[in-house]
Amino acid sequence: MRASVMAGGAVALGVAAFALSPRAQFLAGGAMANLSYRLQDHLVDYDLEHHDVTPAQVWAEFRLQNELASKVRQTFPRRTFHPVVAMLVCMDARIDTNELVGDTRHNYYIVRTAGSAMSLKEEEMLELAVANGVKVLILTRHSDCAAEKAAATPELRAKYPALVAAVDERDRHVAEFLARPAIAARLASGALLVKQLDIDTATEHVVEHAAAP
Ligand SMILES: [Zn+2]
Repeated sequence: MRASVMAGGAVALGVAAFALSPRAQFLAGGAMANLSYRLQDHLVDYDLEHHDVTPAQVWAEFRLQNELASKVRQTFPRRTFHPVVAMLVCMDARIDTNELVGDTRHNYYIVRTAGSAMSLKEEEMLELAVANGVKVLILTRHSDCAAEKAAATPELRAKYPALVAAVDERDRHVAEFLARPAIAARLASGALLVKQLDIDTATEHVVEHAAAP
């Protein structure tokens, strides 16, 4: 009797601690999101190896999934965030930005481009994001990048000249962005932090990018 009362008390304490701890709730949410990824990963309908699927079937599935997802969202609205972090990430589908940051709350502005290349419009978009409150800007590139491979392959350089030019100009655009007066002023005052990271595509582990000498 005494043992069961103690066990009941321990469970009640555990539930109370969970209810009171945002960190515990955040980690539990992350675990459930990861569980859903793993449950869906082996379903291969959209996989390019699945040659039997037709464009019409893919489109029909897209519409079906959107109808379902939007109904869930209408029923359970999500909170709106004003992000303080912006990230520039390649469009490579293997990189999941939610997994990259361990957060599903729309807490980040995400700009995705081929090869993580900035053009003037991305420079302006990111400057606007900073003006709207972004304090940390993360510029990424990743291993096994198709855009970088195209830039390193003569026949692909000839076939995709605009893509290759964007990759070739990547460092110049970063330097140009950092020198923009509004960005340079925030960097100098410490109001903005800019980090350049390399993503391991297989694991999504990041390390700081070593600038070319
Ligand atoms: Zn890439």
